[in-house]
Amino acid sequence: MQLAVLPGDDIGPEITVATLDVLAAVKRHFSLDIGVEHHAIGLESLKQSGATLTEAVFAAAREADGIILGPVATAIYPPADKGGINPSAYFRKNLDLYANIRPARTFGRATQRVSAFDLVVVRENTEGFYADRNMTAGDADILVTPDVAIAIRKVTREASTRIAEAGFRLARARRRRVTLVHKANVLKRSDGLFLDACRAVAADYPDVNVDDVIIDAMTAHLVRDPGRFDVIVTTNMFGDILSDLAGELAGSLGLAGALNAGATHAVAQATHGSAPDIAGQDRANPMALIRSLGMLLHWLGERHGAANFIAAGRAIEEAVGATIAAGETTPDLGGRIGTKAVGRIVAGRVARTASAA
Ligand code: NAD
Repeated sequence: MQLAVLPGDDIGPEITVATLDVLAAVKRHFSLDIGVEHHAIGLESLKQSGATLTEAVFAAAREADGIILGPVATAIYPPADKGGINPSAYFRKNLDLYANIRPARTFGRATQRVSAFDLVVVRENTEGFYADRNMTAGDADILVTPDVAIAIRKVTREASTRIAEAGFRLARARRRRVTLVHKANVLKRSDGLFLDACRAVAADYPDVNVDDVIIDAMTAHLVRDPGRFDVIVTTNMFGDILSDLAGELAGSLGLAGALNAGATHAVAQATHGSAPDIAGQDRANPMALIRSLGMLLHWLGERHGAANFIAAGRAIEEAVGATIAAGETTPDLGGRIGTKAVGRIVAGRVARTASAA
């Protein structure tokens, strides 16, 4: 199998190096037949080729079996007509990566800021308020006059149905509980449609408990009693915000791994951004991207019926947990270890998990 590796901006290259150390360890210890190809994206690609994502790199990544995408500094990209293409949005839209799966769980007392929890935010990834991906042509973030702006939020029954299906399927493999998060009390048509589509899916899963919570109250519930949530299904922007909150409550945004998945492609990508405030200092936590790699290996294992890929994904998660328990962490988790060293430590623990199995 072939993985395309796109390191991204700011902390992207640092956390990618650490993640590739872990990949090398699982390849060796779980006999994974994986080849890796590297491509420049982001500001490096802008310098080299005039665009933050070129068609050639997109085509190469599309041909790969899986993609590892580092965070990208989109806030400082030039406009699209000057080469500033958001690779993250481009992959989500053009590979139809409709499900953004963002797990968050506490790892014992060492890191947690609230009571213990283990949940997954299942975020719709292709429409909603994300103006650069919810139109076939043009952009839904519109300046009407210099002093009036409008952003259009798109919600379709099709996208709501398939994200709900992804959430209910996942819930069956977990604690069988789905919470639908919305703002249908105000956005009666758009979020009303989302809720209606999700409830129709719920009817096919009578073995899964379902409830719904309004987004603003949800932030309070998540802080107050996060343990009551299992799978949270929601629209694009609410999911983006909730998953950062859940990641930080679990200890650090630097722990928040994620997968962007569609029917045929998947992209491992941390929940966080490119963290320019700590770039180049060997203090970024690589665990989010490392856990994202674990999710990608699990996805590949399920897709190709390869038990060793699934075992490798589990071993990564265990190795991350053991590393946190040992206090061998970057400063965001209270430790004093650098990015590269954390990568090597997790890689070493993966090897031990494999030999114990
Ligand atoms: P951010 O997620 O980069 O950082 C928020 C805070 O979390 C910062 O204090 C940062 O230091 C910390 N943090 C993030 N990742 C960390 C890690 N691995 N280890 C330790 N601490 C970590 O959000 P931001 O500062 O608002 O955005 C920076 C850039 O990233 C912007 O250009 C933004 O557009 C972009 N962005 C990209 C993505 C993506 O690539 N998917 C997502 C969000 C933001």
